[in-house]
Amino acid sequence: MLTKIIREEQIQKAKKQVEECDNFVIVTHLSPDGDAIGSSLGLYHFLTEYGKDQVSVIVPNDFPEFLKWMPGTKDIVIYEKYPDFAEQLIREAEVIFCLDFNAPKRIAALAAPVVAADAVRIMVDHHLEPDGFCSIVMSYPEMSSTSEMVFRLICRMGQFDLLSKEAAECIYTGMMTDTGSFTYHSNEPEIYVIIGELIKKGIDKDAIYRKVYQVYSEWRLRLFGYVLYEKMKMYPEQHAALITLTRKEAARFNYVSGDAENFVNQPLSIKNTVFSVFLREDKDYIKVSLRSVGDFPCNQFAGTYFNGGGHKNASGGEFHGTMKDAIDTFEKGLMQFNPNNFEDLNKHIEI
Ligand code: 5GP
Ligand code: MN
Repeated sequence: MLTKIIREEQIQKAKKQVEECDNFVIVTHLSPDGDAIGSSLGLYHFLTEYGKDQVSVIVPNDFPEFLKWMPGTKDIVIYEKYPDFAEQLIREAEVIFCLDFNAPKRIAALAAPVVAADAVRIMVDHHLEPDGFCSIVMSYPEMSSTSEMVFRLICRMGQFDLLSKEAAECIYTGMMTDTGSFTYHSNEPEIYVIIGELIKKGIDKDAIYRKVYQVYSEWRLRLFGYVLYEKMKMYPEQHAALITLTRKEAARFNYVSGDAENFVNQPLSIKNTVFSVFLREDKDYIKVSLRSVGDFPCNQFAGTYFNGGGHKNASGGEFHGTMKDAIDTFEKGLMQFNPNNFEDLNKHIEI
């Protein structure tokens, strides 16, 4: 039996919408990751099993190849490719589930139609400080992932039996990817109770790991070698590391979306490193990824210097300017927002 984390009144409100409505849209954040796609498709399969035939998942832009094996991905509507169709679905929806994000700006161009829609908006999310654009707000930052919340929501609605193997595969993928394969934000014992239940539904967790993490191209592996050897700068005094990648370098390695996934985590495997930042030049901005260990809140760093946010130990943002200026901003930030100033640092380093 799982602890009742989501408040009963929220469950009842969501349950009523699910029972009474026929037309559902599920939206998730820009550059969807494993949890965004996993939670959305988990809920999509559930609603479909429930007997709802008008259920659409809409994402702002495309998502990485390594998530495309997931059951249901072919039915996902990519707003960038089909804006008119997506807007029509949003206009007609009775309920819009907002998964794995908590502020309209995180869904980019989808924000205007979603906020303007007549539908009841239901947020299911685990990021800090939700904006008030949904009438039902399930916001639980202590959860490992939005996928875990979708599992809990389905169970609490009394519908565990309707959770199919396909839904279980998607939910597991979201939980696995949002916790670095259960290496961070994953100390709650109930996570493993849930995994047990998902395995009973027939998922092969080892196969899922391989489908997500062991399907890279040769070029991706060479790019990985290159950035670690040539582009990683250590800041030992601050227990920090920075990796940068320009568009020119990415092109040299035939970069495709998703190839730089996980690079940001690697410097944390170096002893005494508690903060890692990755700057990647994209079309018209620099994408910033940040990771930390312990109490150092990289989401605050992201918010202060890179117009972003996220979780305490995993966050992101963007920088509009040159790579050189982005690096300067990071270095300036590191002096002001120094990991040495955080009391629990000694727990995570050895002197
Ligand atoms: P990633 O580095 O994998 O892109 O992002 C890690 C986490 O940071 C995401 O799960 C998301 O919560 C958050 N995040 C990423 N980019 C942004 C951003 O531009 N703004 C905000 N507020 N959060 C972000
Ligand atoms: Mn998430």
